[in-house]
Amino acid sequence: MSKKTKKQNKIYINDNNNNDDEIYIIKILIVGDPGVGKSNFIYRYTKDKFSSSNLSSAGFDSNSKEIEIIDKKVIVQLWDSAGQQQFKAITKNLFTRVQGIIILYDITNKETFLNVSNWIKLIQETNNGILYTLAGNKCDLKNERKVDEEEAIKFSKENNIDFLETSAKMNINIFECVNNFVQKIINSDYFIRNISFAAQNTSIGRRTINKNERCC
Ligand code: GDP
Repeated sequence: MSKKTKKQNKIYINDNNNNDDEIYIIKILIVGDPGVGKSNFIYRYTKDKFSSSNLSSAGFDSNSKEIEIIDKKVIVQLWDSAGQQQFKAITKNLFTRVQGIIILYDITNKETFLNVSNWIKLIQETNNGILYTLAGNKCDLKNERKVDEEEAIKFSKENNIDFLETSAKMNINIFECVNNFVQKIINSDYFIRNISFAAQNTSIGRRTINKNERCC
């Protein structure tokens, strides 16, 4: 990983415990209509790479794919809900296994933006306490834009969620979107409430790991 990426990936958390062996593990699910760029969003964040082909159909194993260690304190796992949009029950089940959800739409495809409301409804039906955030991907395709940024900002304000336009291709706002969200999750009541639970269950929160351990 380049020095620049390491620096970009740094996140600062309120933690008075200086035990080097204790880290946070944050699992985030990426949802959104097929083709909005979920796999590439994960590919950019975790590998700092982009693929012009469809990663899902190319067999990219994106579920529970990647680990990010930030100042040795936070591991961010981004899960791809690829191929599961049609299986609502499975997707809903995933909602209960992560600490946050990023809803992605494609700024060149209005329908994917209109469907954001349906994604929010599905999340709220499942787990009202979970945090979610919104990102409008492919913002590099200015000439093909079908969703005004102002419209998305208005929508996000009405729904009280954070919003950023991103580009997995041009590496715009990907790290900001994820890292700001991770920071919000860590500082949230939802997360703090579950830290004691985490001591027994590694699916959330803080735990002690072997430095060489792979996690996914
Ligand atoms: P998924 O089905 O939501 O996982 O979408 P993919 O990550 O497979 O991307 C679908 C298509 O959109 C692929 O051809 C990608 O190369 C393209 N794509 C993804 N993100 C971007 C982006 O930020 N900008 C542009 N121009 N194309 C993108």
